[in-house]
Amino acid sequence: MSQRVYNFSAGPAMLPLAVLERAQKELLSHGDSGQSVMEMSHRSSEYEAIHFKVEKDLRELLNIPENYTVLFLQGGASLQFHMIPLNILKQGEKAAVIVTGNWAKKALAGIKEVGLVDVLASSEDKNFSYVPKVADKDVSAYKYVHYVSNNTIYGTRETSIPPINHPLIVSDMSSDILSREIDVSKHGIIFAGAQKNMGIAGLTVVIIRNDLLDLVDPSTPEFLKFSTHAKAQSLFNTAPTYAIYMAGLVLEWIKDLGGLKAMEALNKAKADRLYNYLDASNFYETTAAKEDRSWMNVTFKTSSEDLDKALVKKCDAAGLVNTKGYRTVGGLRCSIYNAMPMEGIEALIEVLEQFKKENA
Ligand SMILES: *Cc1c(COP(=O)(O)O)cnc(C)c1O
Repeated sequence: MSQRVYNFSAGPAMLPLAVLERAQKELLSHGDSGQSVMEMSHRSSEYEAIHFKVEKDLRELLNIPENYTVLFLQGGASLQFHMIPLNILKQGEKAAVIVTGNWAKKALAGIKEVGLVDVLASSEDKNFSYVPKVADKDVSAYKYVHYVSNNTIYGTRETSIPPINHPLIVSDMSSDILSREIDVSKHGIIFAGAQKNMGIAGLTVVIIRNDLLDLVDPSTPEFLKFSTHAKAQSLFNTAPTYAIYMAGLVLEWIKDLGGLKAMEALNKAKADRLYNYLDASNFYETTAAKEDRSWMNVTFKTSSEDLDKALVKKCDAAGLVNTKGYRTVGGLRCSIYNAMPMEGIEALIEVLEQFKKENA
């Protein structure tokens, strides 16, 4: 086997080695079933045991209240930009979005195709390098307010739930779910694609307060109603069985580490180590406002695009891959999700320090 790299990709992202090894061990026969999870009927008792254990572990880790339903869907986080307004907005009702980056803009565009929507606040004036303040905003006219908890492309995050007084807050947690403790009960809906911090592509988790399941217009196509999937316990049609199984392995890995409190402490230590190095370097410059910096996606640059390019190359050669920044930000973006070990951060800093010595 060729040597494994440290993968700083924004998504799909690296998985914990222990999770991959376990999947490998169980690949040909899950338990004593004599078959791979990939080959199992989604109606079999073996599969159902996996399915409901994943839900149980997710509820436990995120401390999801009883009056919330967990859904395992497909269509990516992107389908939720349409599915949520389809289920929640009645004719004439309006949503609002806190526009903190590309994914918030996509949500805005998605909602616009289905109903009415306003920008509550935006940080586009400074290329989304900060998170706008919303405490003084009047949100009483809106059916729901959508925010992105971590801005994958720009490397910013909401340090806590936006301080707005609204009964229906929707959060896209695709790039930081399970990275820190969150208060689910302060939200109406939380959703996240699994491929960044929860597993592999093909699964989207939606956590929805039960009273919201009944808002949908009866004429909405059956498949697009949350209530359809809730009634069927996410087995209305063939579920993304292997992606759900992989998410289960990731959840067990987090539980073994000590749960979200321990995960959060590890993530803070990793982010602190990298940002502290960059801040002290006198060579690298981070692109996000200090108080809003993401613990998951670290965006920074050198003094020139040519140097940035050379640095990405040097990282590649050292087995630190996918460090190139998104084109609207430039520089580098190193994604350090749950699965990135501290050793990966240390290896990155070593290369950054060498590069600095060669080019300062
Ligand atoms: C990656 C990402 C998405 C898109 O996820 P898909 O599963 O590809 O649709 C949406 N929101 C955020 C915050 C993301 O990071």
